[in-house]
Amino acid sequence: MDAAEFRRRGREMVDYVADYLENIEQRPVYPDVEPGYLRSLIPTEAPLEPDNYDDIIKDVERIIMPGVTHWQSPYFFAYFPAASSYPAMLADMLCGAIGCIGFSWAASPACTELETVMLDWLGKMLKLPEHFIAGTHGHGGGVIQSTASEATLMSLLAARCKAVRRVQETNPERLEAEVLSKLVAYSSEQAHSSVERASLIGGVMMRKVPTDNTYAVGGGMLKKMLEEDRAAGLIPFYFCATLGTTSSCAFDHITELGPICNEENMWMHIDAAYAGSAFICPEFRPLLNGIEFADSFNFNPHKWLLINFDCSTMWVKKRQDIIGAFKVEPLYLKHENQESGRGSNELNQLLLKRITESRTIHLVPCQLSGLFVLRFAVCSRVTDSGHVQHAWRQITQLSCEE
Ligand SMILES: *Cc1c(COP(=O)(O)O)cnc(C)c1O
Repeated sequence: MDAAEFRRRGREMVDYVADYLENIEQRPVYPDVEPGYLRSLIPTEAPLEPDNYDDIIKDVERIIMPGVTHWQSPYFFAYFPAASSYPAMLADMLCGAIGCIGFSWAASPACTELETVMLDWLGKMLKLPEHFIAGTHGHGGGVIQSTASEATLMSLLAARCKAVRRVQETNPERLEAEVLSKLVAYSSEQAHSSVERASLIGGVMMRKVPTDNTYAVGGGMLKKMLEEDRAAGLIPFYFCATLGTTSSCAFDHITELGPICNEENMWMHIDAAYAGSAFICPEFRPLLNGIEFADSFNFNPHKWLLINFDCSTMWVKKRQDIIGAFKVEPLYLKHENQESGRGSNELNQLLLKRITESRTIHLVPCQLSGLFVLRFAVCSRVTDSGHVQHAWRQITQLSCEE
């Protein structure tokens, strides 16, 4: 597909999407197909010859749509909302075109900076305590995760790392594996399944705290379990509270639970994936009272804030807790706006610095057998030998400069 065809097909696709959404009510919200329906409708092997675009689009109506559960239908009342909106779809399109992967500042500065600033905006809308806002004197900040499941896992792993370090500070003879086997995490019996899964992935025990008659966890129940577990030689280290459980939108009593977690040196994570967007409304903000005790907090704009999946926003009280728990820094992720204290290989480093500053081509280094190596990867779909030759001339020229 060339640019001319993309323009034409793009317009067609926009029309198809607008028609789909305008007329979605006419489609049955839940598909009438049996498991395995799709296999008989498509070839068993990937075609060797490309299909014609018009035929592919026809197949969308013939093969795909009959098997779609229409989450955007006004008759869809299942699970939870999967937000979608026209501006969010257009933004996704732009993201597709820029096609950058913002894993570090240098990998695309606008990406990192926009994320940080907008999570400050969003955090302020929720009236999060100042220590969660990056552009303040605090040590915290917000970061986008793909899903709430991921945010919970991140918080649990960060808490696990912190707990092991704390135990080993006072008891250096205790081995990590032994400490890990004693760690206990807690969550409501009404918590989302992803919370239990986080403990499975994190390899730690998780105990489910019984709820009261509103399906919420109160302080008394947690305290009782902590006493039992401490007496049994276990190490409570993490509690995941839910504000707005998926089943019944119950709110754990975080004003009671928070102080307990703080006293017991336990990490409190708040999973507000489902209901969190509502805290923007002043009339619902009191439900977030107690957030000041939390170490991390998460909610899903992709559920209720008209942002297409996936956008799950997470704030931590101390950025360093998360950064410290996951720190591995391959050389290709280092960039000039980061300290570097290496003494050898200066020539290659100087050359790379010149290349970076010239802004004509872009490379990152790697380390091979102790050498600082300039790594040249052909990345773009449209790179041809002319571009490679131009790059080589540029490198040669810069390496000869005094
Ligand atoms: C939906 C939901 C989740 C999982 O959200 P994902 O972003 O799909 O991982 C977690 N917790 C609660 C309370 C939820 O409602």
